[in-house]
Parts: sequence; C-alpha cells; structure tokens
Amino acid sequence: KSTAKLQEPEEQDTTFEDVAGLDNAKKELEEIIAFLKEPERFEEIGAKLPKGLLMVGPPGTGKTLLARATAGEANVPFFTITGSDFMEMFVGVGAKRVRNMFKKAKEMSPSIIFIDELDSIGRRRGAGLGGGHDEREQTLNQLLSELDGFEPTESVVVIGATNRPDILDKALLRPGRFDRRITVDVPTKSARHEILKIHAKNKPLHDDVELEVIAKSTPGFSGADLENLLNEASLYAGRNKRKKIIMDDIDKARDKVMMGLEREGMQID
Ligand code: ATP
Repeated sequence: KSTAKLQEPEEQDTTFEDVAGLDNAKKELEEIIAFLKEPERFEEIGAKLPKGLLMVGPPGTGKTLLARATAGEANVPFFTITGSDFMEMFVGVGAKRVRNMFKKAKEMSPSIIFIDELDSIGRRRGAGLGGGHDEREQTLNQLLSELDGFEPTESVVVIGATNRPDILDKALLRPGRFDRRITVDVPTKSARHEILKIHAKNKPLHDDVELEVIAKSTPGFSGADLENLLNEASLYAGRNKRKKIIMDDIDKARDKVMMGLEREGMQID
C-alpha cells in the first residue's frame, strides 16, 4: 500500500438506497448532505455546521456503508483511513499521513473524511499498556490540530466510527471536534428483513425461501452477518450443484454464522 494511493479520494456511487433501516441516522445525515451540496448557502446565513460526527455502533452494522452513502448522496469526494493501519508505523508517518489527507480534502472541499476504528488512534492518551505509544500520540495530536484548523470556507466533514466510544480521549469529543453522535444499532427484525432484501437481489432463491422467516430467526445478527449468511447459503447451494438457494442451505449457513458469532463472543468474555 503506498501512502500516495491511500490519499486518493474515492468516488462513491453508494446511496441511502443501499442502506436498510437506520432511519434516525439517515435523518441526521440529511442535514450534512444538504450542507455539503451547497455550503455557500449555509455560510451566507451564518450557519455553523458540525465538522465532526461520531458514528457509534457494534461491528458490521453499516457505519462504513452509511458514511459512503453520505458521500454518494452529496456527490463529494470520500477520503478514508482506518485507525489500525497506523499502529505499526514508524513514528511520524501516521501524523504526516493525517496532515496530507486533510490538506487534500480541503483542496477538494466540499468533501468527507472517514476515519474507521477511530478508537485505535483516539484511545485516551497514556492509558495504553506499557505506557506511552509515541506514534499513536503523535497521530492523535495531529488529528486534533487538524480538527481545529479549518477555515470557515473549508467544507470538510469528518466522520469517525467506533464501537468503543468509552475509551476515546476526551479531547476528541470537545465542542468543534467530534461533537455530534450518530447511533448505528444492530438491526431490528424488520430492518433485518430489509437488509436481506438488499443482499438477496442478485441471488436466485427457491420458492421455499422466505426472507421474513430468516429475519425472524436471526436476532442479534448485524447487516454484515446477514450478508455473510446469504453468501454462505449460496456456497452450500453451489457445492450441491443447485441452481437456486433452498431453505436448507439457509439453515446450514445460519448455524455456521452463529457458531462464528458464539466463538467471537467467547473471546470477548
Ligand atoms: P466495522 O465496525 O466492522 O467497520 P461497520 O459498522 O462499518 O463495521 P460496514 O462495513 O458498513 O459495517 O458493514 C459491512 C457490510 O454489511 C456492508 O458493506 C453491507 O454490505 C452490510 N450491511 C451492514 N449494515 C447494513 C445495512 N443497514 N443495510 C445494508 N447492508 C448492510
């Protein structure tokens, strides 16, 4: 992975249609999208919009997807970095990368910067095992100074995602930084049904497969788990040389995904 390449923005064709459920999160983001589409209009009337949004929710619930869709809806460049990428870098490299990314995002304003796994950069300083982690602290300090360094005419929205808001350095949450929180929850039964509809679009299903029944039998599954379930089911069907997925494939796939989830659960405990 070259540094230069990581700083190229992506053009997003993801939209809210690709995101099932999460209506409250979408509603909050509508305001940001309106701003990104016409920042001048908001500046003229002296409106100050939040620059930093914190998306909080368990893994696989659609935080990244929603951030991409926000860029797609607003039709702005999407810059992305992942917190854990910084962990094994030489001191100074992470900070430099953050600086370059913000510079480029400002040049291409209006734009969005997405920071996945914000907690791995943004963990409380000095709280790590084995004392200070110079590289991480430098990266975090750089991020804090970038968040404070926007000119009024620079319309860059920074979205951070985490499933551990409790361990974030408080400095990140101060006004003007990540001061607005968007909750992205595990889907309800009807949201699971909608997610299954989206991911079953390109999958041939036998008549005996009812997505609503699957939605009912998958409490606790995230969107990513449901996508995985359908994929596993199509692998079972393929292995058995079937042209369509049958309910038995789904049942086998669900057992497999559940076993994986239980194993993860045991590791956390
Ligand atoms: P992580 O914390 O692991 O980064 P995340 O919350 O960012 O997870 P995503 O990467 O957005 O989760 O979700 C993984 C995939 O699961 C998505 O690309 C999408 O295919 C599917 N998915 C998750 N949530 C939804 C949803 N609400 N609607 C449709 N698809 C979803």
